[in-house]
Amino acid sequence: MTRNGQTIELSQAPQLENGHIWIAENDAKKISSKAVAVPATKAETAQAKATGTAPAKPAAKPVEQKPTQPVAVKPKTPKQEIAGTREVRTIVIDPGHGGKDPGASGKKSQEKDIVLAVAKLLRKNLADAGFNVKLTRSKDVFIELRQRANLANQWDGDLFISLHCNAIDATEERKKIIQGYQFYVLRAPESEEDKAIARRENAVATLYGEKNAKDELSPLEWFKLEARLEQYKQTSYLFTEKLLSSFDGGKIKKMNTGVGGAGFMVLVGAMMPAVLIELGFISNEEDEAYMMTKAGQQDLADRIAQAVSKYKDAVHTYRETLGRN
Ligand SMILES: [Zn+2]
Repeated sequence: MTRNGQTIELSQAPQLENGHIWIAENDAKKISSKAVAVPATKAETAQAKATGTAPAKPAAKPVEQKPTQPVAVKPKTPKQEIAGTREVRTIVIDPGHGGKDPGASGKKSQEKDIVLAVAKLLRKNLADAGFNVKLTRSKDVFIELRQRANLANQWDGDLFISLHCNAIDATEERKKIIQGYQFYVLRAPESEEDKAIARRENAVATLYGEKNAKDELSPLEWFKLEARLEQYKQTSYLFTEKLLSSFDGGKIKKMNTGVGGAGFMVLVGAMMPAVLIELGFISNEEDEAYMMTKAGQQDLADRIAQAVSKYKDAVHTYRETLGRN
């Protein structure tokens, strides 16, 4: 932790319990010897929650400190900066579905094939632009939803992009009307429509017996997620802004506002800004035809790559304003 420019390394992650921050006794001694109080501010509380699963109880009896003044918990060196605040280098592309899970089906194509084709073209674009690029799958194989985020974390990604095609199960008439691309972030859903899309994308987990799988997050799970969502919210939305501007004027139209949020399981575990892209409706003939052609897939990859570059520049500029470069 840092206070007034003074950095104190804690031996264990702080623990949040009943609104109090607990730290190990030896850490408390270290801090008091440096005459630094340990206040529990809102920011620090969020930071403590953001450490994820609760750390093991400190061996020594924890020392409770009363709130005094604001404190910022920040990384010691640039290397320890978290995704979203450091320079953007590693992009994790996640082509949805695969193997025994075809995803949604159109008249002539399957979601798993379209998103893999776009992912490979996107990989080339981003590699040419100098990014370090990782794919959660580069073949037609099945990967569990949670495993995808785990891979992204292992690779210490700066941005997680999950590629999908939307679909509706409706009459032919409605299928002709419902089309368009949309970008999703992880957040409590505001509409029944967004909930339905998340349920469809999450269904694979229950369908193929993923451990602890279910197709919706419980209120308690949302509560637990909150701090982490907060940490990556701004940057995830920043990326959707860049996507919106680069997708503007393309063959596939924007659906509604273009940005939605819901409980996508594939985004839940990612410790980095993360966006799920529904490229278009595979259930709509026009969208499907475009997504099936090489030219359409290249155009979609180009637009996403452009958005990634703009996002990288925006993060860089933001860092400059903070004097971090
Ligand atoms: Zn999908």
